[in-house]
Amino acid sequence: MPGQTLPVMLFPAMPIPIPLGEKVTATVTAQAVRDVTCEKCGCAYVYVVRATATGGGENLLFLNESRARSRARSQANVRVRDQLRQLYRPVWCPDCGNYQAHMVKLLKRRRIIQLACIAAAPLLWVVLKYCMSDAATWTEAGLPFWSAVAAALAVAGAIYHLTRDDNAKATERAQRDPTGGGAAMRKADFEKLAAANAPANAPAKT
Ligand SMILES: [Zn+2]
Repeated sequence: MPGQTLPVMLFPAMPIPIPLGEKVTATVTAQAVRDVTCEKCGCAYVYVVRATATGGGENLLFLNESRARSRARSQANVRVRDQLRQLYRPVWCPDCGNYQAHMVKLLKRRRIIQLACIAAAPLLWVVLKYCMSDAATWTEAGLPFWSAVAAALAVAGAIYHLTRDDNAKATERAQRDPTGGGAAMRKADFEKLAAANAPANAPAKT
């Protein structure tokens, strides 16, 4: 009919969730043997490092779960290999107890983090006190006193860090525990063990 307008029906937007797929994850744990030649006595020894990594894959529209799983596993494998490549531990030499230079660096880095946490603890305490108590100002929360304590701890920590020699008691610890805390083994012993445990019918390496 001319001149007649049709009513416009407005529908509110109703989101309808449609699942588009799922995320599949895979976790891989792997280990590697680290070969070390002692910088002090020349002893060849080994220790093991372990790493765990997770990978993910999208199973779009639930069409191919096995492919998503395989992608997740591949990603986890790549990540675990990357981690293992740069993973080292401070493990002393079974013969002389010496930590190698790169291990001493690791120990120093760990110690700096620990000492920094100890020095920061008084300041954290002040923040907690300021937030949780009736203290109206930082001074009332004890900031001047605890800052002085933190500074004293930092100075003591710095002196300890700079004067500490990780190889000072090398001989003693090698005599006490030639396994490096259960982690180290002389390379010759490790190879004998590996040969004894190898499957008898394993194909020879070419
Ligand atoms: Zn050594």
